[in-house]
Amino acid sequence: MKRVAVIGAGASGLMAAYAAAKNGNDVTVLEKNEKAGKKIYITGKGRCNVTNDCPPETVLENVVHNAKFLTGCVHAFPPERLMRFLEEGGLPLKVERGNRVFPASDKASDVTRCLENYCRAVGVRFLFNEEVRSLSKEGGEYRIVSSRGEQSFDCVVVCTGGVSYPLTGSTGDGYAFARDFGLRVTPLKPALCGIVCDMSELSALQGLSLKNVRVSARINGKEAGGFFGEMLFTHFGVSGPIVLSLSSLLNGTQDFSQVRILIDFKPALDEETLDKRILRDLEKYKNKQMRHALEELLPRSLILPVLAQAGISPSLFSHSLQREARGRLVHALKFFALRPLSLRPIGEGIVTSGGVDVKQIDPKTMQCKTSEGLYFCGEVLDVDAFTGGFNLQIAFMTGYAAGNSIH
Ligand SMILES: Cc1cc2nc3c(=O)[nH]c(=O)nc-3n(C[C@H](O)[C@H](O)[C@H](O)COP(=O)(O)OP(=O)(O)OC[C@H]3O[C@@H](n4cnc5c(N)ncnc54)[C@H](O)[C@@H]3O)c2cc1C
Repeated sequence: MKRVAVIGAGASGLMAAYAAAKNGNDVTVLEKNEKAGKKIYITGKGRCNVTNDCPPETVLENVVHNAKFLTGCVHAFPPERLMRFLEEGGLPLKVERGNRVFPASDKASDVTRCLENYCRAVGVRFLFNEEVRSLSKEGGEYRIVSSRGEQSFDCVVVCTGGVSYPLTGSTGDGYAFARDFGLRVTPLKPALCGIVCDMSELSALQGLSLKNVRVSARINGKEAGGFFGEMLFTHFGVSGPIVLSLSSLLNGTQDFSQVRILIDFKPALDEETLDKRILRDLEKYKNKQMRHALEELLPRSLILPVLAQAGISPSLFSHSLQREARGRLVHALKFFALRPLSLRPIGEGIVTSGGVDVKQIDPKTMQCKTSEGLYFCGEVLDVDAFTGGFNLQIAFMTGYAAGNSIH
């Protein structure tokens, strides 16, 4: 039996604590907040998209950084196993669009309750309002200095999260603990966040929300990836589900002047079909100015920006639109270009990209290769994924790998 400290009672900490305690260890969770799962509470807009009902390979395809590192642990604790675990713990689940899994109750707090019940059933001790200030190793023991005193443990599992949404308690403390043990922390960057764009000529679009569009990014003229779904224009630029995913592909970019964001407003129509559709509208509204001729095709606020990108005067009568200009119109609808300036600040990212360098971590157990008994799980590691329940899946499976490996 080992004396195990788990720092942080988020998704990864609760799972690590349960897994370690069920193996007969003496487990204490130290959490700086007054309760567990403050971040879980706000996930999935309060409904908690707890995982994705998909095979391990699909999880890995949705990991943006260091998927290979997670290969072993996703096979050991795949979504299917997590779902069974939660349902057996009294949390009925439901699967929605895109295989996203939610509690049937639509309450994120039920997820935390389920995990906490599991922990208490195997004797995990919780210390709330207990902020860990420093972590060191003396002799064979780990010494934790917290807001309420000092304690020693045989093993420590660091589950302190990233630096996103710091009001939930994730303020990056785990990175400092890692550095104190001589570990490398890769640069921290926002992931799954809004993108700031040059909106100087697009302010009319603010508040416009679009469904069934495709956004993609080009870096130095090369496509970096794209996503289909919902997005919205905001006061700073663009946001919404597909933009969040796109941001994760751009957070390594140094020079945003080399990046273009392209929106395809009509992804279901190829250029030829779209051209025919436009021709029909132009014929129907041949005596109208272009600013009015596209009202069936586009939301009103988009018409002027699209015409501007196509280089077509809004006051031109549609019967005068030449074939070549129509081609430019089709192009503007399929490749509407935005100039991104930066990502939103890291605190606003849904997750933090970067973190404890996984080269220093054993992928089977999450144990630090250079300090026996020290583990890192969840977002504190340099791993991040797209939306869809994959980030919580990472937190749970890395937490399980660590806790379960402690005997
Ligand atoms: C708005 C929002 C919505 C999200 N929605 C989803 C979703 O639906 N699905 C999904 O898969 N992912 C979602 N995520 C991402 C997901 O919540 C995180 O990736 C996940 O919670 C990370 O878990 P973690 O255990 O690593 O860290 P956290 O959940 O951040 O937990 C870290 C814990 O450690 C504690 N702590 C930190 N430092 C100390 C210290 N020094 N002493 C003691 N305690 C400390 C913190 O108080 C906190 O409780 C969302 C994130 C946000 C911000």
